[in-house]
Amino acid sequence: MDCIFCKIVKGEIPSRKLFENDRVLAFYDIQPAAPAHALVIPKKHIASMNEAEEEDRELLGELLLTAKKVAGELGIAESGYRLINNVGPDSGQIVFHIHIHVLGGEKLGGLNVKS
Ligand code: 5GP
Ligand code: ZN
Repeated sequence: MDCIFCKIVKGEIPSRKLFENDRVLAFYDIQPAAPAHALVIPKKHIASMNEAEEEDRELLGELLLTAKKVAGELGIAESGYRLINNVGPDSGQIVFHIHIHVLGGEKLGGLNVKS
C-alpha cells in the first residue's frame, strides 16, 4: 500500500523513533510545528478516525496512553502539551494513516497551531 506511515512502520522510510511496541509507534515529526513535536500511530493501517471501528477501541486508547508516555519522554508532561488528531480535508489532514500529534515545548497559540 502506498502509505508513508505504513512504510515507516515497515522501516522502508527512516524515522527518529521515540517508542515502539507490537501495536504502536511514536516518532518525531519531520517538520516540527513546535519545539517538541512527535507523532503516535498504530501499526495497523487506519486511514482516519472516520475509518476507526468498535474493534479498534483498545488500540485507540493505547494511542492516547502512548502519547502521554511520549510527552513524558520529551520532557513536556509538566509544562503541558496538546494532542491533535486531524480528520479529513477541512482539518488539514495530509497523511491518511491515523496519528496523534504531540505538541509542546513552548506556550502554544490558538487551536490553529498546526495550520
Ligand atoms: P496531518 O496534517 O496529516 O495531521 O499531519 C501529518 C504530519 O506528518 C505532518 O506534521 C508532517 O510533517 C508529518 N510527516 C509527513 N511525512 C513524514 C515523514 O516521512 N516522516 C515524518 N517523521 N513525519 C512526516
Ligand atoms: Zn498506513
